Amino acid sequence: MRWSKALIPTHKEDPADAETVSHRLMLRAGLIRKLTSGVYNYLPLGWRAIRKVEEIVREEMDRAGCQEILMPVVSPAELWQETGRWGIYGKELWRVQDRNGRFFALGPTHEEIVTDIVRNEVRSYRELPFTLYQIQTKFRDELRPRFGVVRAREFIMKDAYSFHRDDDSLDETYRRMCDAYTRIFERLDLTFRPVEAATGAIGGSTSHEFMVLSDTGESEVIVCECGYAATDERAEGTVRPIETGESPLPLERIDTPDMKTIEEVSEFLGIEPWRLVKTIIYEADGRTVAALIRGDREVNEAKLGMALGADLVVPAGAETIEKVTGAPVGFSGPVGLEGVEIIADHTVEPLVNIVVGGNESDVHLKNVNPGRDFRTTEFHDIALIGRGDSCARCGKELDSFRGIEVSQAFKLGTKYSSCMKATFLDEDGVGKPFVMGCYGLGVSRTVAAIIEQHHDDDGIVWPTSAAPFDVEILAVNVKSDDVRQAAEVLYDELQAAGVAVLYDDRDDSPGTKFKDADLVGLPLRVTVGDRSLKRGVVEARVRRTGEQTDVPRDGAAQEIQRMLAALT
Ligand code: ATP
Ligand code: MG
Repeated sequence: MRWSKALIPTHKEDPADAETVSHRLMLRAGLIRKLTSGVYNYLPLGWRAIRKVEEIVREEMDRAGCQEILMPVVSPAELWQETGRWGIYGKELWRVQDRNGRFFALGPTHEEIVTDIVRNEVRSYRELPFTLYQIQTKFRDELRPRFGVVRAREFIMKDAYSFHRDDDSLDETYRRMCDAYTRIFERLDLTFRPVEAATGAIGGSTSHEFMVLSDTGESEVIVCECGYAATDERAEGTVRPIETGESPLPLERIDTPDMKTIEEVSEFLGIEPWRLVKTIIYEADGRTVAALIRGDREVNEAKLGMALGADLVVPAGAETIEKVTGAPVGFSGPVGLEGVEIIADHTVEPLVNIVVGGNESDVHLKNVNPGRDFRTTEFHDIALIGRGDSCARCGKELDSFRGIEVSQAFKLGTKYSSCMKATFLDEDGVGKPFVMGCYGLGVSRTVAAIIEQHHDDDGIVWPTSAAPFDVEILAVNVKSDDVRQAAEVLYDELQAAGVAVLYDDRDDSPGTKFKDADLVGLPLRVTVGDRSLKRGVVEARVRRTGEQTDVPRDGAAQEIQRMLAALT
């Protein structure tokens, strides 16, 4: 492609509203442009990178024996109602209506749709197992779209679904798919780690996420020397209990005007945050529940859901909080709280003389003692585990790192097939629900993750596997006939050999062109200039290492192909 004719709108300055490197560089190098919040246009360079990643994903899915299909973006509400996800998915599910007022979902994921295909078409155990996949645009009306295409509302995902007779067969495919993911991310030169994950709204028993290591990642991964690695949502561990050996003191009521946060109250009372116990009101599958957690810890909503046997746990709104506690948000407490279940984290049990909200505006209670002053339905492990806690496996201190979740695999079991009545006839003649797995990989997020790991101060440093073009030819001065002619010949020869070339034939200053070349970051730059031509050479420069080589003008195309091959 000739740069003079291409839509590659580069910018010298960092865009104001981009917080992460990948977001900034994708905008500056002209890969993407925002249309509206969380919705992006992919311009030629961005789209070529997406296509390269898609091709690798496709090759590895095909190698793993999966079959590519394409399901519609739009699906009728009735399918989502069969599994209950029309309600459970909440506001993230993007809903539309047709001219007759019928409701549809814009697919955030496709379990319902693929299960519908299979229940209609597959009858016998003989046809199992198999895996279907697609690469498609997905829609999720994210609460906080951010970091460009990392958390978008419209994005590109590869989603695969496997169907089995039994768990053994699922286990085998699950392993094969995780191997395929490992190959994909290795081919993309990513530093990544598969970790145990919670199952969330998709459901099922076992799940792994593939995390690309990055300080800008939104995921916190908990790791231990013993090899254990899990997302913080999923991580099991022990929070060190705090035992002071104090004797219980008489309960006191204290005025805390306008003090709603742990920081405000603990500072005002001159106490450590752990002594304040937070009371958080949740809605769990329609039940209202109060969860108690030490002030220095956070509730793990996935664990809370498991403890309560609830699929969906969400913090209650202000109205519900006022209704159940009789006080505005910020003053909830367990003492005298009627009509709701109270569930407390294990670490609350040994505490003595704690501070809690008074269920009254501007009031807290001091010297509260669990058991004496309030009743809990149960004590459970509902705390989010973090760095410094002890590993549940070996007891050593846990560490953590931040990562970008690029893919997730789930063993779904019969969660979807059971409620959608998707069954096959097994060898014994009995109808059984399909055992299922699902495997999602964010294609557009992966491109951003590559840039997070492959850049320097001057711009992107593409690994060859994902680079929009293999080589940039940079003609230093296109007004020079000799330069233009040498560059054109090289451009033609490389293209004829199947090399993807971006030819910077713009009549711009060399400074601008060199800066843009670094920003766009193709693996190899070949500079054609009067001075080097006089020496009978062009200059090849490897973007990643900065290594520069004189390549004789005659036979340059072959030598450049050889250099490229050495880079992959
Ligand atoms: P997250 O926890 O980041 O919201 P998720 O668990 O909801 O992701 P999955 O349902 O597992 O995501 O989707 C499969 C993959 O799709 C993810 O691993 C991720 O790479 C990608 N993905 C999910 N949500 C988005 C989004 N809003 N924008 C871009 N990619 C996304
Ligand atoms: Mg996930």
